[in-house]
Amino acid sequence: MHACKVMQDNNLDTGLRRSSSSQLVIVGGGASGLSCAVTAARLGVSTTVLERTSRCGSKLAVTGGSRCNLTHADTARHMAAKFDCKPGLLMPLFRKFTYRRIAEFFASIGVTCQADHQGCIWPRKLGARQLRDMLVQAALASGVDIRTGCRVHRVSREAELWHVGTERGHHGAHAVCIATGGASYAGTGSSGDGLALSSALGLATAGWFPALCSLEPRQPVGELAGITHRSAAMTLSVDGRPVRKAAGRFIFAHRYVSGSEVLNLSGHAARALQQGQKVRLAVDWAPSLGRDGLAERISLGRERNGRRLAASWLTVFVARRLANRLVADAGVPADRRMAQLTEADLEALVRVLKTTVFDIVGTEPIERATVTGGGVSLNEVDISTCEVRRLPRLHIAGELLDTWAETGGYNLHFAWATGIAAGEAVARNLTSDRNL
Ligand SMILES: Cc1cc2nc3c(=O)[nH]c(=O)nc-3n(C[C@H](O)[C@H](O)[C@H](O)COP(=O)(O)OP(=O)(O)OC[C@H]3O[C@@H](n4cnc5c(N)ncnc54)[C@H](O)[C@@H]3O)c2cc1C
Repeated sequence: MHACKVMQDNNLDTGLRRSSSSQLVIVGGGASGLSCAVTAARLGVSTTVLERTSRCGSKLAVTGGSRCNLTHADTARHMAAKFDCKPGLLMPLFRKFTYRRIAEFFASIGVTCQADHQGCIWPRKLGARQLRDMLVQAALASGVDIRTGCRVHRVSREAELWHVGTERGHHGAHAVCIATGGASYAGTGSSGDGLALSSALGLATAGWFPALCSLEPRQPVGELAGITHRSAAMTLSVDGRPVRKAAGRFIFAHRYVSGSEVLNLSGHAARALQQGQKVRLAVDWAPSLGRDGLAERISLGRERNGRRLAASWLTVFVARRLANRLVADAGVPADRRMAQLTEADLEALVRVLKTTVFDIVGTEPIERATVTGGGVSLNEVDISTCEVRRLPRLHIAGELLDTWAETGGYNLHFAWATGIAAGEAVARNLTSDRNL
């Protein structure tokens, strides 16, 4: 819809180096870049977006299974607790940019939001692609100059101006917002450029790692592939120390283990693996029962269902193929019937049902991770404006900042909140600079 109005730098430029200037140049036309652009332009800032691909918001268009879970109905405190950093670091941002504030922003571009029973907020009667189009349209309608096919390779400060270098010329600006996203789903444009751009400016950065992705256990998933266990309790430990607990679905995929709670743990696992630490995932398949309760339940089964094979009886807790595996792991012969279970068998079955340990040796590749950890240290920015403390009028927004959140709309919330915060701050700074 917007493509015809958006300038394609590669069409305009025939190889001559060109320069232009605006008050704000935004590097990256994704979720955070576009929300920054709409906000700043509406506040009267002449704004240019430089987007490396041929189209803005390609990642946004595939979010939430193409429905775009754009934020979450949560308090600021709960929201901050979903992120992989000290919650206090994000509170100044989330106190100001609540989910209501984000919903108001979307209402202002014609998108109505609705929450589901879990509190995830979605656009009403719109898909992710349409939401992206409306955001681009709002930017164009506010006068934003969007240049696609324009990859930025350098951001530098010379005298009072910021300079943004592309292969086709450079742009001068009073302020710059780097909003180049993370390093996953590189086909959408986010191939990790922001890290090099920021490091060249002397900013403290951490290397990328995948997050919200499946985990690869050492033990082959083999015949368990395709099983979904509805309710498991999980403990992730690093070098023998429990670091995170979660409860929810557990899915055996072909090479990986998955499920929304496994995804939420994955970033912690990935970072530890990257640091050469030993990662284990302990799974309790019957979390609603304690060890004693479970032992009682099995002995009741032994009395009442003596003729059934132990593996078949175990299907009261787990799928049959998993039951076969657990019986084998417990060292109980496959043909043993409930009535034949010894006390040692019973104890062993309790042990495997309460704790199956997976040695985690890898994750899905970063390309397929929903988000990425790593990026520019949060300590570099004042999070309420996203302005770099040491480099005035430089802002960093979105996934390029070194934090990521659990599933549920929090990552996009962060992208909008940081983008809008940066856009507002640029407008405020311009006004105060003019008044000096
Ligand atoms: C499949 C999938 C589903 C998801 N679903 C959800 C969801 O439902 N809810 C949720 O909260 N989060 C979701 N996420 C995460 C969410 O999409 C991201 O966290 C969010 O898009 C980050 O926004 P961003 O603006 O920081 O980066 P991006 O949206 O990735 O935008 C960065 C932009 O910068 C451009 N760029 C990069 N380098 C350069 C350069 N050198 N020069 C110029 N431009 C450049 C890129 O082309 C891109 O357009 C999902 C992610 C994926 C992959």
